[in-house]
Amino acid sequence: MSATIIDGKSIAADLRASIKAQTQDLRETHGIVPGLAVVLIGDDPASQSYVGSKSRAVTEVGMRPFDHPLPADVSEAALLSLVQKLNADPAVHGVLVQMPLPPHIDAKLVVAAINPAKDVDGFHPLNAGRLATGLPALAPCTPIACIKLIKTVRPSLAGCEALMVGRSHIVGNPLAQLMLKENATVTIAHSRSRDMPALCRRAEILCVAIGRAELIRGDWIRPGATVIDIGINRVSAGGKSRIVGDVDFAQAREVAGAITPVPGGVGPMTIACLLFNTLRAACMQAGVAAPEI
Ligand code: NAP
Repeated sequence: MSATIIDGKSIAADLRASIKAQTQDLRETHGIVPGLAVVLIGDDPASQSYVGSKSRAVTEVGMRPFDHPLPADVSEAALLSLVQKLNADPAVHGVLVQMPLPPHIDAKLVVAAINPAKDVDGFHPLNAGRLATGLPALAPCTPIACIKLIKTVRPSLAGCEALMVGRSHIVGNPLAQLMLKENATVTIAHSRSRDMPALCRRAEILCVAIGRAELIRGDWIRPGATVIDIGINRVSAGGKSRIVGDVDFAQAREVAGAITPVPGGVGPMTIACLLFNTLRAACMQAGVAAPEI
């Protein structure tokens, strides 16, 4: 059996088109243009390119980008003061501070300073708490991306055995919460879990976010399972380097029912889900019905 490949690029293109239409509708019906402020500290070329592609994506769907590049030696106080300014700016509906931050800045303090209603990264403790208690929340973008990808091949997760490998606050934990909200039976595994192959073999939905190149082998996968590979790992062989996931794709595709490739799976959907969160934030701030995850 060869698995269906879940094509993140084309699914993300469809989502962006739908967000563009909803953004236009919001502007025409309510006079609101969603605005996303992105704060980038330092001049790391990879982060600059990532932030550049976010800005282009924002403009393409008819939203307003507000880019705030800051020098690497910016003080914590100056950054917090900018966050307060963006919190108070009615043209800004989403505030994102690009991680990682330089070591002299306390990331937890910065995340906590963002207005939870504008927290489009979904990292604020209030949003994490709301998600965990079943209240409407801005959830992190990558977990939303994964749920949307799963639903392309499995419209209902109700009653499914789901395994989340990884329990970070940005991916594993919130994705487990979102799967639970979809009524899946969710197990969370991590570095201290025993017998990972056996846990994986039970899963009808297997999501992996651990940052360990191709750790999950083909014979760990339940036949017909939906496999969502979130890992991004650079590996080198024979003087060449390439990006691989946390799942051994060549093996897994022979067993799984559907699988996301790396690259081209979860990655492209994550930026589209940042736009989705910006649209949701703008709707919620205006008291207009917001699109559901
Ligand atoms: P993280 O904060 O380092 O968390 C890794 C998690 O994996 C931890 O919970 C850790 O367990 C667990 N883990 C590590 N080794 C393990 C093993 N051998 N067996 C079982 N569990 C293990 O990483 P993250 O930020 O969640 O990111 C995970 C991966 O996703 C990375 O490759 C990252 O680049 C990628 N990522 C991709 C996107 C995207 O858009 N595609 C977005 C975000 C992250 P403990 O808690 O016990 O330490």
